[in-house]
Amino acid sequence: SFQSDVVPQAPEDPLFGLMAAFRRDTDPNKVDLGIGAYRDDNAKPWVLPVVKRADETLRKDPNLNHEYLPIAGLAEFTSASQKLVLDADSPALKEKRATSLQTISGTGAVHLGALFLSKFYHPNTQRTVYFSDPTWPNHFQIFSNVGLPYKTYPYFSKKTKGLDFDGMVSSIESAEEGSIIVLHACAHNPTGVDPTQEQWKKIAEVIRAKKHFPFFDTAYQGFASGDLARDAWAIRYFIEEGFELCIAQSYAKNFGLYGERAGCFHFVTSPGSDAESTVSRVASQLAILQRSEISNPPAYGARIASLVLNDKELFAEWEANLKTMSGRIIEMRKALRSKLEELGTPGTWNHITDQIGMFSFTGLSEKQVLKLREDSHVYMTKNGRISMAGLNTHNVEYFAKAVDKAVK
Ligand code: PMP
Repeated sequence: SFQSDVVPQAPEDPLFGLMAAFRRDTDPNKVDLGIGAYRDDNAKPWVLPVVKRADETLRKDPNLNHEYLPIAGLAEFTSASQKLVLDADSPALKEKRATSLQTISGTGAVHLGALFLSKFYHPNTQRTVYFSDPTWPNHFQIFSNVGLPYKTYPYFSKKTKGLDFDGMVSSIESAEEGSIIVLHACAHNPTGVDPTQEQWKKIAEVIRAKKHFPFFDTAYQGFASGDLARDAWAIRYFIEEGFELCIAQSYAKNFGLYGERAGCFHFVTSPGSDAESTVSRVASQLAILQRSEISNPPAYGARIASLVLNDKELFAEWEANLKTMSGRIIEMRKALRSKLEELGTPGTWNHITDQIGMFSFTGLSEKQVLKLREDSHVYMTKNGRISMAGLNTHNVEYFAKAVDKAVK
């Protein structure tokens, strides 16, 4: 039998625990700023109109069945995903330097990449994965589960509530040669702080000099700025620079397909005469890993995304839906900042509008976060992160006043 000392009680996942506490709270003014899922102006989940259309089309299709997908997933979906993240004209696609597998959303893509690297990336030497401090907490669990040791590089400056660029660069510079560097492509979770394009160039330079391996996690393309190309800029720059890298891509946020688990893992190798052979060998191993882990990915979400990605008209409608979501969030950033400034809440609040994407790192302390929960029924993670999508025209003033009270 399993004894208690062998299977100790694990703590509840902090984020999912927070959601449960919110659901138990009966106060009519309660505000949920915890989980990173888009909400409309009435705090309701939003099915993207383009997703609704694609869904209706699929349901009407008399040929739709529930057969297995291939191991690597739906081919129309993975090839459209490559074009979306790399650009249709990417040299990596023309030169057949990329291989892609459909995964269980972004989490599955990070996992497949981590597992692949743990098996095949310099397998006989000590390798270290570097995450930003802070990062999406699941990075730690996913990479440790496959036995890769990790360290962190500084990222967030508590002083400016912006990027600690010097700290980041010098840490990557002093990391052991050939380390794996995990990078958030845009809309960094949890801070909402991204490097500028000039800063990305410098980061690429340091990664090249130290022969590190970049691993991009992209969960917010189009959702961050409303512009798909802009949100993919860093990845495309690294590809242009000829890096070999991998990419974990999620469609949870930008399609609102959270529970459908649509995602993609991409491996892109550097230009060279052996590129096609590398990609073929890598693809063959990824297929074996995928087969043993999930056999083949779930079909429905990928079918929806694929319909939209491969149809000009639907694609344009999707871009408009992305602008609706990113636009509403940007409006809420402006509203929150101006309300806090109007109230004269101690501190500076420019970071609320400087940061981008689903989240804002407010700079509120753990004590203030708990006070907000107790006094005002506002739910956010202990590190002071708020999901901007939880704010709307009906509660932003209430939240600003609650913050004001907690800070003063
Ligand atoms: N990476 C980051 C940085 C994220 O923020 C998320 C979503 N919270 C993911 C990956 C993956 O999420 P999912 O598995 O739902 O696509």
